[in-house]
Amino acid sequence: MVLRSGFIKDYRPLESVRAKDWIINRSGQEAYDKIWSPLLKSKFDMDSDLVSGTWIWNKFKLRGSSRGENIAKEQLGYLDGGFILLIERLIEKIRQNGGNLLLENSVKSMAKSQDGRWEISSEKGRSLFDKVLFTAAPEILANSCSGLSQEYRAALRSIKYKANLCLALELKESLSPYYWITVAQEGFPFVLVIEHTNLVGLRGYGSHIIYLSRYLDASDPLFSASDSEIEEKFTDGLKRIFPDFEADYIKKATVSRVRYAQPVVKIGCSENIPDIETPLDGLFLASMPQIYPEDRGLNYAVRLGRQAADRLIRR
Ligand SMILES: Cc1cc2nc3c(=O)[nH]c(=O)nc-3n(C[C@H](O)[C@H](O)[C@H](O)COP(=O)(O)OP(=O)(O)OC[C@H]3O[C@@H](n4cnc5c(N)ncnc54)[C@H](O)[C@@H]3O)c2cc1C
Repeated sequence: MVLRSGFIKDYRPLESVRAKDWIINRSGQEAYDKIWSPLLKSKFDMDSDLVSGTWIWNKFKLRGSSRGENIAKEQLGYLDGGFILLIERLIEKIRQNGGNLLLENSVKSMAKSQDGRWEISSEKGRSLFDKVLFTAAPEILANSCSGLSQEYRAALRSIKYKANLCLALELKESLSPYYWITVAQEGFPFVLVIEHTNLVGLRGYGSHIIYLSRYLDASDPLFSASDSEIEEKFTDGLKRIFPDFEADYIKKATVSRVRYAQPVVKIGCSENIPDIETPLDGLFLASMPQIYPEDRGLNYAVRLGRQAADRLIRR
């Protein structure tokens, strides 16, 4: 199934097929029940039955293409120092070019002022702009911008996202020799065990770095549970996989929550993908669902950012 996906070039016929049916047709009910169904649920929760064939095809294609001549071994890249390096360099460049960044400043509302400019109200006050490029989730735009038609607002709201919980552990001991372990078991508190230091080495970290990651619906009580409850649930799960694991291994544990982490790629969703130019003059949108048929990734965010900047400058 994975190999054949690499030969499919036109994804459009897959848009109207559910990932579930596509997988069952190609690998059978048992493989679906034992492997793919728990994995789809772990990413899309109660929306997993609606996920389109395009999403799973794209995942197979991507994972297949990150293997070189030896298909048993995947090759992955790591930006030495982490994505923060890229962000810091961008900030430096923006400032060098006369740009201004107002950090830790949440946008509350946006509306056209009487002189035709955009008035943005944020935690730190109000400002006027000629043009606005909005880069958070479409649902946030629908909730914060005045003057959108009901139809456009409803279309933005129909693009759902799943949330993500991630527990980063700094451990005294390594858990396994593997970088990436996927847990295909329903009801498990997390779906991924990623031992970062197995990919990049111990370097100067002074610890073995593990990420436990899980996607869930934002309405799931676990998403709003306290850090200590999440840590307890996740470390209990870890103990089930690695019986030798002891709480004493943990030097530090850090929980992170992302509300808008993974757009839900539903059947027929391409009809609903907003354009970079919104119906309102001077308002542009660049968000993860717009990279369709690709699935979220920083490289696609950079590409979309460039496309949006081009459109904005041309106007
Ligand atoms: C667990 C996890 C692991 C990942 N691993 C990888 C990986 O290994 N490689 C990879 O390439 N990609 C990875 N990704 C995907 C990558 O993080 C995203 O594709 C990328 O961050 C999307 O960039 P973005 O700028 O569109 O959105 P975001 O990075 O989500 O940025 C949106 C920003 O808008 C801000 N915002 C929201 N509302 C407001 C408001 N009202 N006012 C002001 N600001 C607001 C948010 O705080 C946020 O900073 C991962 C994602 C997750 C969740």
